[in-house]
Amino acid sequence: MIVLVLKVMSVIETILKIVAVVLGLGGLVWLIHYTYARTRIKVGTGISTLLPSERINLDIMENIYIKNNQRHAWKHVNRYYKKKFGKRISTEDACRITEDFIQETVAKINEKYPQAELCPDNIFLYSDCPNYKDASKSYNGQSYDCGVTGLSFAYYILVQISNEYDRNMNEDILANVLFHEYAHHIFRLYSGLRFPINRKKLFINYIDECFADLMCFKLMNKMPKEAAEILRYKYESVYHSKNMYSASNTHPSNHFRIKVLEYGKFDQRLIKMIADYINTIKGREYIREKEIKEVTEQIEVFMQKHPDIEVQFSL
Ligand SMILES: [Zn+2]
Repeated sequence: MIVLVLKVMSVIETILKIVAVVLGLGGLVWLIHYTYARTRIKVGTGISTLLPSERINLDIMENIYIKNNQRHAWKHVNRYYKKKFGKRISTEDACRITEDFIQETVAKINEKYPQAELCPDNIFLYSDCPNYKDASKSYNGQSYDCGVTGLSFAYYILVQISNEYDRNMNEDILANVLFHEYAHHIFRLYSGLRFPINRKKLFINYIDECFADLMCFKLMNKMPKEAAEILRYKYESVYHSKNMYSASNTHPSNHFRIKVLEYGKFDQRLIKMIADYINTIKGREYIREKEIKEVTEQIEVFMQKHPDIEVQFSL
């Protein structure tokens, strides 16, 4: 009997090992394919530049990510209600509350700034922090390649705790976040594997961010000075940023982003300004003429393909 049990167990063990290897290999192939799909050289508008097979990959990946982050937001809304009103609410209610919040926010923004006509159906409240306290302070927006936009849970809390004075400014902050993400859906550069990936990717990421910042305030019909003031208010009074000069791999420093708004133009000179900015951080010639030329050419190709989109503009 014992021998038989041991035999069955060893067979099960072998089957599990085979399953693990197959899943591991499958995952690896998928990861390589996904990484490749995300890093090919392109210029475009998110999903419009993807091949059908790449879209399927992104859809699967993004759907898992979006659903998971939406669930976090519902959990945090539940926690907020428990703290504030001492009662638990159902997941369905939390979901409805987040949807109502987005509907109301978008309606207010569309009334104040009708140019972009934001569609609430493509926007959802999310959180990528499982911890409530972190989530309440994590101000972020996300533009997914599948065309939807995420607004982080911290903005929900911001609206709940705003007083009358803040309210008007915070409405502009919310418009700033949603229009910034909307701008990413209009125009985006993609980096490639052919180049030292960090160099190129950094350059492209920063150009994308500067474009989105400028396009956002163009949609809000702001002059450079007012746009810079709104962004400064966001960093200083809402985010309580400790270091205005630190830059990440995806975003230039807050200080630089304000400087770009003061400049107020998305043009060839700005591309050069971004290259110079990276070179002051990373060292001379980190972004060379070659990269500047290539990126400028890609932008021109995009402009020829999309004459309806005003890529080069000023506030
Ligand atoms: Zn952005």
